[in-house]
Amino acid sequence: MLTDHSSDEFNPWRNAEIRFNQAADRLALDSGLRKVLKTPTKELTVAIPVVLDDGRIEVFTGYRVQHSIARGPAKGGIRYAPDVTLDEVRALASWMTWKCAVVNLPYGGGKGGVICDPNIMSEIELERVTRRYTSAIIDIIGPEKDVPAPDMNTNERTMAWIMDTYSMHKRETTTAVVTGKPLNLGGSRGRPEATGRGCLFVTKEALKTFHIPPTKARVVIQGFGNVGGMAARLMAKEGIRVIAIIEVDGAVYNDNGLDIEALMKHKKATGSILDFAEGTNLTAAEALFLDCDVLLPAAKENVISQETAPKINCKILCEGANGPTTALADSILRDRGVFVIPDILANAGGVTVSYFEWVQDRQGYFWNEQLVNQRLEEIMVESFRDVSQYARDHKVDNRAAAYMLALDRVAFAVKLRGIYA
Ligand code: GLU
Repeated sequence: MLTDHSSDEFNPWRNAEIRFNQAADRLALDSGLRKVLKTPTKELTVAIPVVLDDGRIEVFTGYRVQHSIARGPAKGGIRYAPDVTLDEVRALASWMTWKCAVVNLPYGGGKGGVICDPNIMSEIELERVTRRYTSAIIDIIGPEKDVPAPDMNTNERTMAWIMDTYSMHKRETTTAVVTGKPLNLGGSRGRPEATGRGCLFVTKEALKTFHIPPTKARVVIQGFGNVGGMAARLMAKEGIRVIAIIEVDGAVYNDNGLDIEALMKHKKATGSILDFAEGTNLTAAEALFLDCDVLLPAAKENVISQETAPKINCKILCEGANGPTTALADSILRDRGVFVIPDILANAGGVTVSYFEWVQDRQGYFWNEQLVNQRLEEIMVESFRDVSQYARDHKVDNRAAAYMLALDRVAFAVKLRGIYA
């Protein structure tokens, strides 16, 4: 049993630190290099004054953290939520560094956040916040510096505003400053589905290790947004049985597999997944602990904790969200024999197609969807195999393997570049 961190079990930066330290210890990294790899390169906090629709002025707080630029420009999304903290953004930025290294993209890691509640804001207020935030961080972003993307509560429309604001300041249209843009503004085919599709590819690889044919697999997905919804849709198309979907207000269950397209229509029409004609309502907790082959948390952090991990009933845990498992739950899952596909591998499909988008923007030559998906599959499958092989070679679990592989790659870049004085 680890010492009691229960007071900060749910602090994402603390969780990031614990995993970092474990991997650095196993790699026997020297203490200087450890400090370089752990410490975020740049953290910017900005005030975002905005005139609201009713004429009042509100000042929002925004962050952009560049954790590492050792392997290339910082890369990572921007999230809008009322409970965003600097520690959370810092953790998410570091996870982007490790994620990009696991799938071997020429990027470092970054993340942004704005403390605001998009649910109670009008479109024009969101546009004002986005443009003012962009102008406040404009000196540190750019195609060669730091390339934002969508994350929780931001989308392609947000990216279009950022691209436009940046371009207006620079006096030239600079599509490669952000990824996850609309298709006709330099976006990439396959980007909206990419994270979910990546989850599908690694899940299929993991099922092979259990000799479970996809059509026999039973999957529970938590979250029905960009990641969970897309993963559900793509899995169902491949004949995988998605037996439950969980959202904040509850869950819907059908042991024969839910009709995902019909469930999407139902949610669109009623605003909720509950009371779906071809399913049974369950509480979120009941569904989370269902006996299944694959559990795919694709919503927020800290869903699988010391408290919930002992009750999880899956063979494979595919972490579609960033940080869905607390560090204290790791050993519980390990003891219970759960095969974890860690977030920095499982959800890397999004940033991988972001990379393709950035490449296409810079080349001015756009690929068809088949090529995007084929290259995504190559990278996800190869990375899954790299991590599995590393785990076998070093006799560690998949999460430790992914972190060690990533730290090793970033450490190598730092060593090659040397410390500039
Ligand atoms: N927000 C996504 C992530 O957490 C995508 C980041 C990106 O495409 O840069 O991986």
